[in-house]
Amino acid sequence: MNTPEFPGLAERLATVRGSVEDAVRAAGRPPGEVTTIVVTKFHPVSVIEALADLGVRDIGENRHQEAQVKAAALVDRDLRWHFIGQLQGKKARQVRAYADVIHAVDRDSLVAALASDDSQVECFIQVNLTDDPARGGVAPAGLLRLVETVLVTPGLRLRGLMAVAPLDQAARRAFAHVRELGESVRTVAPEATSLSMGMSADYIDAIAEGATHLRIGSAITGIRPVER
Ligand SMILES: *Cc1c(COP(=O)(O)O)cnc(C)c1O
Repeated sequence: MNTPEFPGLAERLATVRGSVEDAVRAAGRPPGEVTTIVVTKFHPVSVIEALADLGVRDIGENRHQEAQVKAAALVDRDLRWHFIGQLQGKKARQVRAYADVIHAVDRDSLVAALASDDSQVECFIQVNLTDDPARGGVAPAGLLRLVETVLVTPGLRLRGLMAVAPLDQAARRAFAHVRELGESVRTVAPEATSLSMGMSADYIDAIAEGATHLRIGSAITGIRPVER
């Protein structure tokens, strides 16, 4: 299918899908184990519609207000909404209302704010691979304790770990570290087998280290309209 209003979108999507398949094969991993989430932050609803027409099901957004509006506008499309940004506790309930998956759970107070007796939401714990707390994520030293908190909190289903590769380190090494952390998490949470890692610049390395959820924006959508 062509998307004349978004030149190149279909081609870029096809290119990324092809290189994801190639990287999965090269890593000796079974096909179908990797989900590509297309990150559409700052892009209009019409881009998400075009992506849905091209068979995309998983959409990533990182700002609550923007995500809420888009999810409401597209409620009749069969999409899975991934909230991938840092999340304020006071917005947790609202995000839970439309998000299928929350990727950046990183502290006790947020876990408490996401608790629910009525419904389940899938979540990833974000690990901070830098020394800068402002980057979001729990420090590796605090990871297992946070995992245990999630496991005893009603309404959360822990899928695994999420991370962003630091700028000052080879992405592949950073992702290998996340893979090892994931192995230790599985000793207490055997079902937390997923790894949300890999963006436009580094998803091939992420696949090689076991990523199951790629968060790919600009390589598919093109340049983001405004970085606010
Ligand atoms: C924007 C964003 C992405 C996608 O980034 P690209 O470099 O455009 O692929 C992935 N993960 C998070 C957390 C993001 O905020």
